[in-house]
Amino acid sequence: MCSVREIIKKIPIWKSRIFWNRYFYCSTERSIDPYTIEPRTNKKEYSKVLHAIKENNELFDLFVKNEEYSPLFLDKYQRFPYYLSKYRDIFNPKVSEFLVKKGLRIEYPEKRKFAVCLTHDIDAVRLSRSEVGYFFASALPKRDLGGSVKIGFKLIKNSKLLRNFDDIMNLEEKYDARSSFYFEALQNGDKDFNYNIAELKNELKDISARGWEIGLHGGHAAYNNLEEIKLEKSRLEDVISKKVIGYRNHYLRFETPLTWKLLSEAGFEYDTSFGYNDVVGFRNGMCHPFRPFDMNADAEVNILEVPLNISDVALSEDYMRFGERSSWEITKLLIDRVEKCSGVLTVLWHNNSLFDKKMSRLLSVDACSNKEFFERILRYCSEKKAWITSCEEVCKFWAKHEEFVML
Ligand SMILES: [Zn+2]
Repeated sequence: MCSVREIIKKIPIWKSRIFWNRYFYCSTERSIDPYTIEPRTNKKEYSKVLHAIKENNELFDLFVKNEEYSPLFLDKYQRFPYYLSKYRDIFNPKVSEFLVKKGLRIEYPEKRKFAVCLTHDIDAVRLSRSEVGYFFASALPKRDLGGSVKIGFKLIKNSKLLRNFDDIMNLEEKYDARSSFYFEALQNGDKDFNYNIAELKNELKDISARGWEIGLHGGHAAYNNLEEIKLEKSRLEDVISKKVIGYRNHYLRFETPLTWKLLSEAGFEYDTSFGYNDVVGFRNGMCHPFRPFDMNADAEVNILEVPLNISDVALSEDYMRFGERSSWEITKLLIDRVEKCSGVLTVLWHNNSLFDKKMSRLLSVDACSNKEFFERILRYCSEKKAWITSCEEVCKFWAKHEEFVML
């Protein structure tokens, strides 16, 4: 008779999950999940929302994004893009709709019907020489050489062009809105380094004093590296002398479910990276914040995900290429669907898409990713009486209400 231990020892290595992950699924450099723990047997520990989703296998698969656990391919930034997903119905928040049918009810402050999280990733506070060159070159055919040279000099001289935080807050204030700014905290030499966070100390102080949120925009190396996440978090916290609770990774780099677990361990209360970089919509069918479920551990992760739905980059000529008119139609459709579910719509607009009208025209900024388009979203949501606020506010609200939303 063999003991259980001996039988396990005899199982060939090629039958183990780690083997398959390492030699087949992880050919795209994804790390092995180091946090796998024994499955829980006490199903009562699931939240009410998860209990409800578990009733429907197909929706549960979509909700947990089972397909992202062992992807055959990823893009060159190790992201799982929409074009690799088997779930094509990206514009319908199917899981949230199901939860609403099952009794999900949320009462937002002042009886607002739905919420909008406005967010800004601050990748850069100054134009690089190559960007100045690009803008100069794109302006050239429309102007005489002298005029274009003037624009070039204007861009080089105008070092505050991308420090437009006040303009952004003033615009949002007009609509009684607040938002979240995610700042990088990189060091010179890191990939895409553009600014030292300490040089923005005064601006950060103003942003915080006005009631807008400051979160961390994790760098390229952060999404699967706990030490890097902690390091960047502490750099930002040192400058603002305040705890940082919110996170979004640069390029929306994300590994399901590892990134959630690392962020939770690093002390973040929420993440808002979970959206596709190449399309707008609902990546896992949710238009409500949720506790992510870790299939490996058979447990919910102790962090709130505020899924990203609409971004200037996804709508731009680099990805969806819908043009201004269709981009607006799809944006309205998503807003209307979130309103119907009493959900939370998360919008990302970079600071370099928020120049004033004259400068946008000068720089030929894509019409679907400029300030006027962003203001149209603000106006439309404001007319619908949405609660337009930062992720931090939504997160605080959710923490108080999440166990009481299923009737
Ligand atoms: Zn970024």
